[in-house]
This record gives sequence, structure tokens and C-alpha cells, in this order.
Amino acid sequence: MANISISARNLSKNYGKTHAIKEVDFDIKNGEIVGILGPNGAGKSTILRILGGLTTADSGTAIVCGLPVADNSLETKKKIGFMQENNPLPEELRVREYLKLRAELKEIPKEIIATEVRRVMDLCDLFRTARRKIIRTLSKGFKQRVGIADALIGSPDIIILDEPTIGLDPHQIQGIRKLIDMLRTKHTVLISSHILSEIEKNCDRVIIINHGRVVAEGTKQDLADEFVNENRLFVTIEGNATIFSNYLDEAMLSYQIDTTFENEKNMTHFTIQSPKTFIISNFIRAIENFEDCNLLGIYLLKPDLESIFLAATKRSWEEEMNH
Ligand code: ADP
Repeated sequence: MANISISARNLSKNYGKTHAIKEVDFDIKNGEIVGILGPNGAGKSTILRILGGLTTADSGTAIVCGLPVADNSLETKKKIGFMQENNPLPEELRVREYLKLRAELKEIPKEIIATEVRRVMDLCDLFRTARRKIIRTLSKGFKQRVGIADALIGSPDIIILDEPTIGLDPHQIQGIRKLIDMLRTKHTVLISSHILSEIEKNCDRVIIINHGRVVAEGTKQDLADEFVNENRLFVTIEGNATIFSNYLDEAMLSYQIDTTFENEKNMTHFTIQSPKTFIISNFIRAIENFEDCNLLGIYLLKPDLESIFLAATKRSWEEEMNH
């Protein structure tokens, strides 16, 4: 299909007796930012390396911009800017020197190399502060920027970043996130991460990998609908918290008292888990009938990617056990 830029078709790969990935199948559309999410050892890097032509699958086909990678690895490599896991860099080179070298290796025409290197350094905020620095002296965050700048040389259609935020502090992560956001609309971006919150912010869609298999994929909303059977409500009451918790016990709802807000004046905040079939208006009416407590607020909390991830990986584990 014309608007598909990456397809994994039934990809499997073993390392000796280890099944690194099994029958991995997905499509990525032009211009999408997609996160590959999964615990360490799930198979994320193996998938990305096969797509990037850095290793081959034992079976199945990887297709990039309409071309099977295995038969066209030179052409497909030119379509992809790849930042490998751990982002290996030559420590003794200066940033600009290294990026110039990479541009030459990527066969950027000689006369535009200087402009292209300047462009990627500007995009990654390296020109102002780091262009003359020796790579060894850079912070981890800046080293990641150099890796991303390298991936952007020649403005390839597809950018693949394997764990771009690993080992960074929250400020540096925010910087990398902003950078990834700037790639939106210009590139198709595939990012892997084992840290849920990092994927959530940037991606249009996530593909969850567990034990080498795709166990879920979709937008956060799709995944929440499929995997999360509970709503979470944030409820604030004024009045007797004990009576209210007795009521919740009787109604067999699980809850936590949110201690960050507990007994602020005479108020208590509860986070309540309720089945999706639970009718909130009935609940509100029941609380209003209480003499000793006033309902001050009730909010439906959006499921976070962490609960989706846990539910999806739990389900895949149970399916595997039943086979
Ligand atoms: P992730 O990127 O999700 O952490 P990987 O794709 O790196 O996962 O690894 C998937 C599985 O394959 C793991 O069990 C890992 O130990 C194994 N593996 C990956 N690369 C190699 C290799 N070169 N040799 C042997 N085993 C490997």
C-alpha cells in the first residue's frame, strides 16, 4: 500500500535456543510516530535491527518504503536514519568532525555536506554549544543528540531510535522528547523504549512486545478499550471518611484513600476502581443520600499506559501458558 512506510511480515529470529522474536507482524504508515514498547529482552532491538538491515530475520519479510530489506539493504538503508541501542560514538572526535564523516559515509554530495551538518546540528541544538567539543566530554544527553543528529543526516524518510532516552535525567528526556516532536510530519519515526511514560508522550500509536511477540497495538485509547476493564474515579468527599469507606466496602469497590490530600480541612480524596459497567449516576445518587458526607467532586481518570501495558503483557503471558 502506498501510504505504508514500514511492514514487518511474520518476522522470526532465534539466537541459538533463544527465540528473540516470533511471527512479528505490523505496519507503520507514512508520517506516524510509533513506539515499540516492551520490557528488557522482549525483542525490540532485534526488530529494529532487522528493519534497519543490520541483521537478518530467520523467516518473514521486512519491507521498507515498498522494498524488501533483505534483497535491497543498500537502498533501504538510505531511507532510514538509525540510532542504535547504546549509541556507540567515537569518543575522541569532535562533534562537527564526526557528523561530517558520517555525512561523507552516507554519500551526501560534497558541496552540501557543510550545510547539511549545520542543519542537523541546529535541529539538535548542538551548533551553539557543542560543535567543537570532543564527544568524550559531552553529557549523556548531548551524546544522544549527536546520535539523533547522525540519524537525521540526509533527511531520510524514516528515523529509527533504539532507546533514545535510556540513562538520561528528566530534563534531558524532556529535551529529547521535544526533539522527537519536531520530527513529526517530516519523517516516519519508530522509537523503542522499556519506559512507558517516555513512549506515551511522543507517539501516535504503540506496539507492545512481550517475549518476542506483538501482544497489543493501537492508540492509547484503542488499547485502553481492549485491555482495561476498570474505570478509575477520583472522588472528593467532605465528611466522615470511615463511613464512606464502609459504604465502598459494602458496595465491593476497591479503593485507596489518597493520603497526599487526606484530611485537608474535612475533606478526603479517594481513588476508586470500578468495573466499566458501573453506573456513575447511581453512585452519585447513593452518596447524596448519605447524611454525613458531601460529594465535592468526582472525576474519571484516564487509564495510564502503565496499566494498559501490565494488562496486555499479563494477557499474553496467560495465553502462552494455555497453549
Ligand atoms: P530488547 O531490545 O527488547 O531488550 P533484544 O532484541 O535485544 O530485546 O533481545 C531479545 C532476546 O534476544 C533477548 O533474550 C536477548 O538476550 C537475545 N539476544 C539479542 N541479541 C543477541 C545476540 N547477539 N546473541 C544472543 N542473544 C541475543
